[in-house]
This record gives sequence, structure tokens and C-alpha cells, in this order.
Amino acid sequence: MKSPFGASIQEADIAIIGGGIAGASAAYELAAVSSVILLERESHCDCHSTGRSAASFTENYGNGIIRRLAIASRSFLEAPPEGFCDHPLMLARGMLTIARQDQLGRLEEELERARQFVPSIHRVSPGEALARVPVLRRIAALAKVAPIGLVPKRRTAFHVAAPDGLSIAGWPLVNDAGEEFYFKPDAGRIFVSPADATPSEPTDAYPVDFDVAVGVDRLQRATTIDVRRIEHQWAGLRSFVRDASPVVGFDAEAEGFFWLAGQGGYGIKTSPALARACRDLIRTGRLPDELLRQGIEAGDLAPGRIGATSAQEEKAP
Ligand SMILES: Cc1cc2nc3c(=O)[nH]c(=O)nc-3n(C[C@H](O)[C@H](O)[C@H](O)COP(=O)(O)OP(=O)(O)OC[C@H]3O[C@@H](n4cnc5c(N)ncnc54)[C@H](O)[C@@H]3O)c2cc1C
Repeated sequence: MKSPFGASIQEADIAIIGGGIAGASAAYELAAVSSVILLERESHCDCHSTGRSAASFTENYGNGIIRRLAIASRSFLEAPPEGFCDHPLMLARGMLTIARQDQLGRLEEELERARQFVPSIHRVSPGEALARVPVLRRIAALAKVAPIGLVPKRRTAFHVAAPDGLSIAGWPLVNDAGEEFYFKPDAGRIFVSPADATPSEPTDAYPVDFDVAVGVDRLQRATTIDVRRIEHQWAGLRSFVRDASPVVGFDAEAEGFFWLAGQGGYGIKTSPALARACRDLIRTGRLPDELLRQGIEAGDLAPGRIGATSAQEEKAP
């Protein structure tokens, strides 16, 4: 029997469990140097978190490790290798963070922190923000391995129609300083999320009406968009460990078992860097130089850093 990567299942050096972005990107890097099989239990790949994500890329979201991983992923996503795909992976969109009066302190903190990673981040005037996103209101005011403590958290998303007569294609992703919601253009519609993070069992996640209503309320308070109808709604799980950084490395107890998990809400944008980390840690035991240059060390990602986890913690934060 042949795998998609050409190796016979009996002979493959590496078996990857799961055909989401983590498994697929690791398979891409590892297949260049080993025989690999990719095992997916659903009838098609990217059925779960990956296929439900906003697939947005920003170097300005997540903890320090995530931001460095995103910086290290950028060049691959901007210019993938010849023949990798027949369309661009990224579309320059930008990101605009807005704040209510009570979030202004947080906005200042976030601006300062963001500039440590992306010095070009700058303030825009209310007029400039409105020129980019004319619907904004009150801009200035406004395997038998020990568990690693993964907590899936549900995130809801839905589509609403674009406001009549407005071209939304060039809008940036807009979020707020309190991380209470965000929206962005998505294939002619507006993708909205209430940025919920409700702990969940590992499951085929579905949206809860309350979370959708919260998202509609936050969108309507911050913009002039009048939501008449939800066109499509869904939810996916973002799985985190305690420190919200991904877990990448061999398990200390289970020989040959390698973790690539806990990407939380950042698994798409960090996938090139994490896949290369996976490849090099398996082959050489070292992280790629590009990650070391970002100040990321193997211990920042290693499963051992998490410490012992109770079964209770594995289920709830
Ligand atoms: C609403 C939402 C918005 C998001 N927005 C962004 C964003 O803008 N940018 C970003 O970078 N990230 C975003 N994310 C996060 C991102 O989607 C995840 O970090 C990423 O998809 C995780 O990838 P994964 O491969 O680990 O998981 P999954 O995509 O869930 O893949 C895991 C796969 O493993 C399979 N599987 C499980 N158990 C087995 C088994 N025993 N045998 C075989 N197969 C198995 C499952 O069927 C599944 O296909 C978002 C997530 C959500 C829900």
C-alpha cells in the first residue's frame, strides 16, 4: 500500500497522526528527508480547527514565542518554494486595532509591546482608520503518553453580508485592544468572531447561539454595520497548554513519540516555522538557526517544560 508521499506504510520512518495544518506542514518538511505517512481519521484533511480558522497572519498577536515563530514563518508564506502551490498564500491586508475608552490603557501597552517585534507598527488618525474601514464608530473613544495539559477552547465565527454599496475587499483585519472581537473581509462577506475561548471537551465543535449574539452585539457597537442575518456560523477548537506556546519535541517517556500540538489560535501562521522545527528536532535534535536567531530555544517548546499534568487539568483550564 502506498502513502501519498510514495513510501509503503510498512516501511515509513515516520507516522504523522492528523492531517490538519500541523500534520500536513510537518509532513511537507519531513518528506524531503524521510519516508512519511500521514494518517487522518476523517474522510478528508483540514476538517477540524484548520478548516475553520480565520487563516490570518500577523506578527502582532500571541505571546512572545508565537510572535517570533510567526516572524520566522513569514518568508515561506510570502514566497513559498517553486511549485508549492499555484496561487499566493498571503494577501496583504494589514491589521487595525481599535479601543473603547476603557480599553485605552491596554491599547497603549499593546502598542509598546507590539513595537518590540514589529517596529513599523504605528498609530493612525481616526480619519485614516475611517478611510480604511468606513463602518467604524467613535474610533478614538472606542499514544500512551502522559498528558501535556492541552485544553481545547471553542472559538466561534460567522459570516455577515457586506454593507450595501461598500467595497470591503481592501479592509484590514480589525480587532479591539481587549481581544473581545475581530472582523475581516472574507470572500465578499465579513468574517466575524467574538474571540471566545470557552473550554471544551475534544469534540466536533459547534457554535452556541449566545456566542454568535455576543459577536453581533460587539460588531454593531463598534461599527455602523447593521446585522440582519447570519449567513453561516461555525466553531472550532483552539488547543492550548498552560503557557500558551506550542509543544514541539520528543516525549521524555514514550520512545519515538514526537509532539506537535498546542498551537492554540496561531497554528496556521506559525506552521512553516513549526514544521521546520519538527524536521530538524527529529533529524538533528537542534532547532533551525532561523528560530535560534529569533531567540527561541528548544526548551521553550519542549514537552518537558509543562510539568506533570493531572487528568483533571487535561480537561479544564
Ligand atoms: C475560529 C478560529 C479562527 C482561527 N484563526 C486563526 C488565524 O487567523 N491564524 C492562525 O494562525 N490560526 C488560527 N486558528 C487556529 C488554527 O486553526 C489552529 O491552531 C490549527 O488549525 C491547529 O492545527 P492542527 O493541525 O493541530 O489541528 P486540526 O486542524 O484540528 O487537525 C488535527 C487533525 O487530526 C485528526 N486526528 C485527530 N485524532 C486522530 C487520530 N487518532 N488518528 C488520525 N487522525 C486524527 C483530526 O481529524 C484533524 O483532522 C483559528 C482557529 C479557530 C477555531
